[in-house]
Amino acid sequence: MPEAEHGIPLKELCPHATEVVRELQQAGYQAYIVGGGVRDLLLGKAPKDFDVATDATPEEVHDIFPRCRLIGRRFRLAHVRKRGNLIEVATFRGPHDGEEGNGSANGRILRDNVFGTVEEDAIRRDFTINAMFLDPVSGEIRDYVGGYQDLCERRLRLIGDPETRYREDPVRLLRAARFAAKLGVEPDAESEEPIRRLAVLLEDVPPARLFEEVCKLFLTGHAMRSMESLQRFGLSSTLFPVLPESDKPGGVIIGPLLKAALENTDQRIAEEKPVTPAFLLAALFWLPVKAGTERRMAAGESEHEAILNAAEEVFYAQSRRTSVPKRFTAVAKQIWAIQPRFAKTSGKRWTRIFREPKFRAAYDFLLLRAVEDPALEELGAFWTQAQESRPMEAPAPAPSGP
Ligand code: ATP
Ligand code: MG
Repeated sequence: MPEAEHGIPLKELCPHATEVVRELQQAGYQAYIVGGGVRDLLLGKAPKDFDVATDATPEEVHDIFPRCRLIGRRFRLAHVRKRGNLIEVATFRGPHDGEEGNGSANGRILRDNVFGTVEEDAIRRDFTINAMFLDPVSGEIRDYVGGYQDLCERRLRLIGDPETRYREDPVRLLRAARFAAKLGVEPDAESEEPIRRLAVLLEDVPPARLFEEVCKLFLTGHAMRSMESLQRFGLSSTLFPVLPESDKPGGVIIGPLLKAALENTDQRIAEEKPVTPAFLLAALFWLPVKAGTERRMAAGESEHEAILNAAEEVFYAQSRRTSVPKRFTAVAKQIWAIQPRFAKTSGKRWTRIFREPKFRAAYDFLLLRAVEDPALEELGAFWTQAQESRPMEAPAPAPSGP
């Protein structure tokens, strides 16, 4: 498809990615910008990053860009830097070994390290809208799978047989939910049907990879829509086994606090304010931690002890599905543990709370709790006022969640 037909303004393309492609082409190789970058340009959205695909091997890429770094053991990629911008250059990949070979187990791809042609590289990708190749020099788009038409019709379609492709890599189930939320595309019937049925396959995905997906779902500006999409496709209860299940298959109960936190997070990102996974974890797992705390207090634990133990229990259970890195759980625990102290609004040392390093995040969390429990509104207002009238004791304003 020539430039005149697809209408991507080449002048607005990342000049660094274009330069990398041009240098590869001048050395006699094929090279294209590929994947999410092309998709986002066609949608008129600013791409997060640009990936380049080429028929040059990693070693050949290295010969052309001697200062690039080859990363990855299994499938090597070249990281090329152009004036501070990182461009990922990958060699076209071909079909994996298949069932009989040593490449797959239970339909899952374990090895994916065979070089291929541009067309083979297109069909090993996940969704048709993610499999277009743009030549920024000629302006031409190569589309072997009908991605352009699907994108025009806002259709999310797996390449090949959907069930086979989900089984190969169950993270594609979450990617379907994420792209639906982020891009406003809808899976076609064949791509949607297996999702609920195959949700259980997420149990076999390494927890670290699922945590990465959780961050992409909830910390990139469309958290609320991601949650709705997970619920709609019946993926939330498998992803968050510690959350109370709702009466919809695969769904979980989303309380008012979590809903407000997700909306807040989106708002902050829209305003280019920082967001942290710690605050998200505090909001996500508040219901089970609150329930655990009440249970433990009824059994005689102090409130502080009960919160920390309940938190430990919830994170331990969740970590079998998604990892929950310590640096974030530690902060989430502090946010929860400070909550009971907000009730103390007089006496000798009530202002000490200002010195807590996570005071600001804990205060933001208190305001969210007031959304769930209007009886806390007055307390929230007290602490808003208290900070304004005691600026000397308040910690320096530090970026905090959500
Ligand atoms: P975004 O960066 O907005 O999350 P993206 O489509 O660029 O979306 P990446 O994870 O950056 O997603 O992957 C880049 C490209 O690699 C995708 O567009 C797709 O072509 C391919 N890809 C990524 N993950 C998979 C997967 N699990 N299976 C098959 N192809 C994939
Ligand atoms: Mg990308």
